[in-house]
Amino acid sequence: MLKLFNTLTRKKEEFKPIESNKVRFYACGLTVYNYAHIGNLRTYIFEDVLKRVLLFNGYDLKHVMNITDVGHLTGENLGDADTGEDKVEKAAKKLGKTVKDITDFYTNEFKKDLNSLNILFPDIWCKATDHITEMIDLIKRIEANGFTYQTGGNVYFDTSKFEHYSDLGKLKLDDQKAGARVNIDKNKKNPRDFVLWFTESEKFKDHLMKWDSPWGRGWPGWHIECSAMASKYLGEQFDIHSGGIDHINVHHTNEIAQSESAFGKHPWVKFWLHGEFLVLEKEKMSKSLSNFITIRTLIDRGFDPLHYRYLCFTAHYRKQLVFTEEALLGAKQSFEILKSRIINLKNEVQGEIPIEVNEDQKYYKEFLTAINDDLNMPRALAVVYDLLKANQIENKEKLSLLYKFDEILGFNIKDFKEESVQVDEELERLVQERQTARKNKDFKRADEIRNILKDKGYIIKDTPEGPKLQQI
Ligand code: AMP
Ligand code: ZN
Repeated sequence: MLKLFNTLTRKKEEFKPIESNKVRFYACGLTVYNYAHIGNLRTYIFEDVLKRVLLFNGYDLKHVMNITDVGHLTGENLGDADTGEDKVEKAAKKLGKTVKDITDFYTNEFKKDLNSLNILFPDIWCKATDHITEMIDLIKRIEANGFTYQTGGNVYFDTSKFEHYSDLGKLKLDDQKAGARVNIDKNKKNPRDFVLWFTESEKFKDHLMKWDSPWGRGWPGWHIECSAMASKYLGEQFDIHSGGIDHINVHHTNEIAQSESAFGKHPWVKFWLHGEFLVLEKEKMSKSLSNFITIRTLIDRGFDPLHYRYLCFTAHYRKQLVFTEEALLGAKQSFEILKSRIINLKNEVQGEIPIEVNEDQKYYKEFLTAINDDLNMPRALAVVYDLLKANQIENKEKLSLLYKFDEILGFNIKDFKEESVQVDEELERLVQERQTARKNKDFKRADEIRNILKDKGYIIKDTPEGPKLQQI
């Protein structure tokens, strides 16, 4: 039985799709004005695990992800997401490029990052600027149902008309007022109201992206894109919607308000899942503060993106993860040691590895229990190590199980193989000295040398052909 923590009810609930075996899943994508930072990518790794777990459980999945290329304003970080400049336009102006240059470039880089982390692509990618007509149609429905007002040229959602407004965030009105104290848009009747459509008569005259609409030439508010695209591709009610926890109180709360007032269905989405933040020792990582780390930064420092994937599995997705280079180094070592143990297993096994696994097998059951318990990856990793240690199981069966588990882990276990290492004189001397120490039964010195080699970034393995070095 798959259990997931639903932000809507604040409980772990048994997951059941609306329609028999089909799961419809929408994940908020990136705002493409810069590279994704590793905080953003933690959220996409968590969503990848969610997707892989659903597939592992045999569900037929439709996964949609948007790309935000209009309407996400800088005011989000100052307490009112309807103020400030469009993030994408600001970046284009700063770099002297067109908006399309910027959004195409960063969308492409984002896809490369996902690939390098073995994150499965959605079935449908959808871009906000390709769905302006759908957004306008949706705003018309919300307006026809009496949930909007117009002031200062903009169309606002009137949150006082929507009784379920606090369902997701569980915020009291006072909390929301306090949150929106800074930079508040004076046209709002209520600080928690939000813009559905901006017009050029209002605010920044030099806004670059504009479209005709019944309310005047302008551009959409940030939240409407997700309601419009989700309903286009997944229908007016669906199973799972996800994002980082920063989206609970504003973006997702507003998506619910728009969608339920347009479609009249409650709840619009059955399961809401949110990933906790990756933080840099006491600070949240944000693209707007320029202290962010990307996958390129990690590669430049000698890491494989999969080391970062491994690091993310060491904490549950609903717990904050503090990023430090030491923590990543630890993940790198663990990943490389795991790799070398699996390579050893491969060397010992002859013939084909069976694809079918025995589902009554203890370790299979434990792994399934871990992932089905609200995606408990730290526990799933522990099961992998227990399996490697187990001596009552044949190596062939171990490998077969590991290949199956890799459908969730996404470590490319089938491709693990010995890589040849360039051995310089110093390394050669240490390896020889260790051989001599072993011959003389001086295991203390042999262990010391093993540790020296480890500090230098190598694991030493004793094979029938003699000792071999493998890079960590
Ligand atoms: P954005 O590009 O701002 O729309 O963010 C893309 C995704 O990254 C959203 O799901 C955010 O909730 C998530 N996110 C932003 N910052 C972090 C962080 N530091 N840690 C984890 N997820 C984050
Ligand atoms: Zn969204």
